[in-house]
Amino acid sequence: MLKEQVERLKRVEEEATEAFVEALSSRQLYEAKVKFLGKQGAFAELMKLMGRLSAEEKPQFGKEVNLSKQRLEGRYQEAELKLKKQEMEERLARESLDLTLPGPEPLGGARHPLSLVINEVVEILAKIGYSVRLGPQIEGDWFNFEALNIPPDHPSRDLQDTFYIDSNHVLRTHTSPVQIHTLLNEKPPLRVLAPGSVFRCDSDVSHSPNFHQIEGMLLDKKVSMADLKGTLAFFIKELFGSSLKVRFRPSFFPFTEPSAEFDCSCPICKGKGCRMCKNSGWVEIGGCGLINPKVLMHAGVDPKQWQGFAFGFGIERMAIIKYGVEDIRLFNENDIRFLRQFE
Ligand SMILES: [Zn+2]
Repeated sequence: MLKEQVERLKRVEEEATEAFVEALSSRQLYEAKVKFLGKQGAFAELMKLMGRLSAEEKPQFGKEVNLSKQRLEGRYQEAELKLKKQEMEERLARESLDLTLPGPEPLGGARHPLSLVINEVVEILAKIGYSVRLGPQIEGDWFNFEALNIPPDHPSRDLQDTFYIDSNHVLRTHTSPVQIHTLLNEKPPLRVLAPGSVFRCDSDVSHSPNFHQIEGMLLDKKVSMADLKGTLAFFIKELFGSSLKVRFRPSFFPFTEPSAEFDCSCPICKGKGCRMCKNSGWVEIGGCGLINPKVLMHAGVDPKQWQGFAFGFGIERMAIIKYGVEDIRLFNENDIRFLRQFE
């Protein structure tokens, strides 16, 4: 009986060895291992036949089985090593690496459209002697309002418009306080530009609680509205092209006297009428006027000796006209798809 079983064991071992040697992939090899050495494999079947052997034969047969298993285990590992090496070589041959290919292009940054507009405005007015001044965004009440001839009961001080830090400080509602800082700290004649962030409690398609203005101020002797108009006409022509006209409409601001709003003929349709100018042929740009003598006096400048003009406009408004952006909130969202368009 034992002899027969040992013969059977030999045949199984031979079959298993053959299967291991002939396996073409790690997967096939593993499947062969399961088939012969697995829990329900050929060796497990052989062990079930142990019951037919006598008490003396059992340990002998068990020993034969264990030796056979050990040999197969060794052959399995040998075959596995060989296949893994072969598979790695095949992979290396297949996946070639071209070291001359260029690397991934790094994402380049670009200037924000509002910065582009500020830079352009500053560049244009620098040609006629203007230079930049900056002021704090948290401003004393006196600088933001009082010095600019905006008394405590003025409607623009309304809590609904102004972000108050405390009873004496606000987030500046305009860039005009930079005029006061400059008048107090520097000696005329002066030609200054003050670009920067301003804040008001307001938010919809055309209003943002944080937007940007640029303020221009000139202080000199014998300054008139004609000088102001000439300056703005030069600026508009440089910014949008020579065919555009500038017009003044009478207006009121506490810090200028007389005051005007200035428009330019629509840069999109050149005055013929389009959506941007609501078919009027004109687009509103900003406000301007001769500096109110009261403002000069607040800053310790003698209005009999010095006069000046000031003008200001919204940077977002300018970018909307220049780039045709329809929602002012896009400027603050920093959506890369929006910003990429200005690269
Ligand atoms: Zn138009």
